[in-house]
Amino acid sequence: MARTTRQIHVGRVAIGGGAPVSIQSMTNTDTADAEATLAQIRELAAAGCEIIRSTVPARIVLDSFERICAESPIPVIADIHFDHTLAIAALERGAACVRVNPGNLRGEEAAREVARKAAELGRSVRIGVNGGSLNKEIAERMGHGPDALVASAEHYVRLFEEEGCRELKVSLKASNVRVTIDACRKFAANSDIPLHVGITEAGPVSCGVVKSAVGIGSLLLDGIGETMRVSLTAPPVEEVRTALKILAAVGLRPAEPELVSCPTCGRTRVGLMELVSKVEREIERIKSQGRRIRLKKIAVMGCIVNGPGEASDADVGIAGSNHGGVLFRHGEKVATLSEEELLPALVKEIEAASEPIRQD
Ligand code: SF4
Repeated sequence: MARTTRQIHVGRVAIGGGAPVSIQSMTNTDTADAEATLAQIRELAAAGCEIIRSTVPARIVLDSFERICAESPIPVIADIHFDHTLAIAALERGAACVRVNPGNLRGEEAAREVARKAAELGRSVRIGVNGGSLNKEIAERMGHGPDALVASAEHYVRLFEEEGCRELKVSLKASNVRVTIDACRKFAANSDIPLHVGITEAGPVSCGVVKSAVGIGSLLLDGIGETMRVSLTAPPVEEVRTALKILAAVGLRPAEPELVSCPTCGRTRVGLMELVSKVEREIERIKSQGRRIRLKKIAVMGCIVNGPGEASDADVGIAGSNHGGVLFRHGEKVATLSEEELLPALVKEIEAASEPIRQD
């Protein structure tokens, strides 16, 4: 069961207080290049990203950042390190929220200034506590484990709230999955502040997806985590796709659609692996056009052993045969096709079952 948290807002997106878990990602374009950054934000929004974060590393990007905030289809968070005056400037230029790691700002008065500005403008702040840059005094006393992460977060929450800033969310991140999970569980047990969950520096797709699925998935199954980012060394759109898959796997979003395929074996007589990869890419292509696919299950099966059963149980499906296969629609056999015809026929079915997502 989800824990009860206060509700805050990042722009128009509600976080906590019963709102759906929102998906975040981060642009990797140069923030000084508004065109490229906005193009990437639009791509990410179409893939399902609901909140975007962009770095504000220096004053020189502020004009561009202001334009990005004004034109972005989703709320923009400014990512700030070291220089608190950049956080204040980003808020003044339209950031819906700033993400600061108070441990790397220049002293606590700097953090208090950010808190006062956010409170004055009614914007939110993410206090991002990272195992690599904890509050110095706490790190010396407690090390870098979960207890130190929690103590550091609680210390900065008190500081921000003392300045009247209550639109807060917190992240406690370490690249170690166990440390991250333990820290988030401990913090959540004693706080009503929404948590931004993720595994920092999770790595390339091959291991980053696994670490994120285990780390974020475990927390979500505990009812912990009100917004999330999957961090991957990969194009940001992969982060969004992975986030959607994690949310679907823990039952917090409908899987749209589930792609069922067999592992292949000595009976397989069609190029099934290639076919499945192409179907997966076509599904992503259709979704990236801002379309929703109204199918629950698509089956791509290699042969007649389990093929017709799975394929006919799906909304649409293919069961391979010697040099082609059979197309099923809601359990009805609708065509016998050559191998070359399988992909186009299945894509046609998927496209016919897709519709534009309404942007209310
Ligand atoms: Fe092998 Fe057929 Fe099962 Fe696929 S469906 S694994 S080809 S027996």
